[in-house]
Amino acid sequence: MISEHVDVLVIGAGPSGAVAASLLHQKGIKVKVVERTHFPRFVIGESLIPRCMDHFDEAGFVEEVEAKGFEKKFGARFLRGSEVCWFDFSQKFSKGWNWTWQLPRADFDKTLTDVLQRRGVDIAFGTTVENVVFNGTDSLTTVSDEAGNRREIHARFLIDCSGYGRVLPRLLDLDAPSSFPPMAATFVHVDDVRRPSGEEGTMITFDILDQKVWFWVIPFSDGRSSLGLVCPKEHLEALDQGNNADTFRHIIRQSDYYRARFDELEFLFEPKKIVSYAKAVKKLYGTGYALTGNSAEFLDPVFSSGVCFATESGALSAKLAIRQLAGEVVDWEHEYEEHMLWGVDVFRSYIRDWYSGDLQKFIFHPEVNEDVRRKVCSVLAGYVWDKENPFVKKHDRAVRAVTHLLP
Ligand code: FAD
Repeated sequence: MISEHVDVLVIGAGPSGAVAASLLHQKGIKVKVVERTHFPRFVIGESLIPRCMDHFDEAGFVEEVEAKGFEKKFGARFLRGSEVCWFDFSQKFSKGWNWTWQLPRADFDKTLTDVLQRRGVDIAFGTTVENVVFNGTDSLTTVSDEAGNRREIHARFLIDCSGYGRVLPRLLDLDAPSSFPPMAATFVHVDDVRRPSGEEGTMITFDILDQKVWFWVIPFSDGRSSLGLVCPKEHLEALDQGNNADTFRHIIRQSDYYRARFDELEFLFEPKKIVSYAKAVKKLYGTGYALTGNSAEFLDPVFSSGVCFATESGALSAKLAIRQLAGEVVDWEHEYEEHMLWGVDVFRSYIRDWYSGDLQKFIFHPEVNEDVRRKVCSVLAGYVWDKENPFVKKHDRAVRAVTHLLP
């Protein structure tokens, strides 16, 4: 069997893998990425948040992504019947980026891997990880190509960025139950031919149809838009019209705001469905490896935190691996797991408060002052590690405390 040696093997070329590989390559580490599919490939997760920009910047991606002309996202709009709430990222409490992108991930992820390949990063597409055996921090990974040919890759460190492939959680029995009840989502792309001109046409929007049921509209710069519904699993079952396309047409008609814009439009692919999308693990790292992005944790799409968690963990795991390979002792528990889980816990509190109705009451309430809104806006922008922000530091009770004082 063919065998090769690298310093770091990255499994998966989504945003977490791309950011990790870029930072490793910048420091002269011999990195190889193995990716099961060929890009461009469809993946959901099209609304980014500003905190991701710090990672894309560090990884040296911003200029080349910007040249692609993806739609810029300056905030997020929430609708509930006739009520409207707009969070403007430039008004957020924390320092940091005031904008990001909303984009088709197939094109975006391909842009990142094209940049990496141009810079000389070795990415093997069409290559699936089948098995990993550890010997201390060293690992031996068996991969196969589409013809079934097997190869072995020896690595001094392994970063699992395999998303829902969840390579190491499966192989090492690291899966843990999620703390959230099972939710479901269905989504599709359309040619947004009735898109209104100006901001209304390009604004990303979350339309609350019921306390636990919301509909997303994510306009892309190429005239397509992504539409999706998120709700409890049983609710989606109850909406079923016999097939995914008819079910989605039925869903579009539930939105008073968007019915006229999207009714009867042709779908660009059969609407997709994901049930019980939340994932968790027992540990985010082990001897010789780290889990990142969806391979580690995914909570819920409502605050678009998935890619941010992926890039934060991709960047941090790469930086720690660089130090470890240089001979330093790295405290993965404190420097990696505790850091990542803090961010997960902040988002977990806000997601809990969203579905309980507290955060929805809060965001639409006229008596919530600007200062408080700015602090919540920081969380929505992904600045969930800024403990100067009391709405981060006391995430578990901050929103509830304010909401329970509101009439
Ligand atoms: P991915 O982007 O999934 O990349 C993983 C890669 O690993 C894939 O390319 C895969 O082919 C490869 N791989 C898998 N198995 C193997 C293997 N055995 N060998 C080799 N390669 C392998 N996030 C947001 O930020 N904004 C949103 O608006 C948003 N909306 C969402 C809506 C829904 C309904 C859901 C379920 C999620 C949403 N997310 C969103 C989350 C987002 O999709 C993920 O958090 C994000 O894509 C994770 O990035 P990643 O790099 O970890 O994994």
